[in-house]
Amino acid sequence: MATESMKPPDDVYCLTCGYALRSLPGPRCPECGKGFDPIDAQTFVRGRPMGPIVRFLYHPLGWPFGALGVILLLLSMLAFSVPGGYFSLFFVSLLGWRAAWALFCVRVVMFCVVRVYYGHRFGRDVNRWWIVIPVASVLAVLLARSDAGPASMFKLHKPALDRFAAEVAALPPGATIPNRRIGIYQTSTIERIDGTIRFFVAGAGFIDRYGFAYSPDGLPAGSSVDHYDALDGGWYVWVQRF
Ligand SMILES: [Zn+2]
Repeated sequence: MATESMKPPDDVYCLTCGYALRSLPGPRCPECGKGFDPIDAQTFVRGRPMGPIVRFLYHPLGWPFGALGVILLLLSMLAFSVPGGYFSLFFVSLLGWRAAWALFCVRVVMFCVVRVYYGHRFGRDVNRWWIVIPVASVLAVLLARSDAGPASMFKLHKPALDRFAAEVAALPPGATIPNRRIGIYQTSTIERIDGTIRFFVAGAGFIDRYGFAYSPDGLPAGSSVDHYDALDGGWYVWVQRF
């Protein structure tokens, strides 16, 4: 008699994944492992068979949403790693964020609709992946509004930049200075004017061009289009505005 009452009705489905709970050895979903109580109607869904699409939407958001948020945050960090930012990376990451948010909103709304209709509630099994995109977005905006990215990258690169400046300073006057990579900075147009050594970072900025200048004896030399923001150790952010 006891085993008979343990048997759930035929038209019941897993609360977590929508699997049809028929002829099972025990009160546990073979698909996702979620347990249910055959005499407690709150622990399963009844009478509403789910197709594959509905079952997919019935699932909580999966790890791909977490991965998407992390990838876009890394892309944004890279875009804001140099003075002026890498415009092309910024543009790509902006498109990525918009697409991710559209996908995220549609998925969350569909999840809620399907859950309420089939499960009569949201369930206690909602995992934590959904939080990654909102949190990563906030971090990306904070990063874009501060100069934390370029400032920390400069600190990290300062020893290599100092070696580069010493090397260029030791060259004879009029010597050609080939471009090179200093860590993440790909130089373009390395110049030496009146004790100032300066170079653009390739790809940095949009219309204005950004780079670094080294001038240990005070404000670097340059024309009226050149602007300098002091860093430390004789280094400046160099902006050429048009
Ligand atoms: Zn299940």
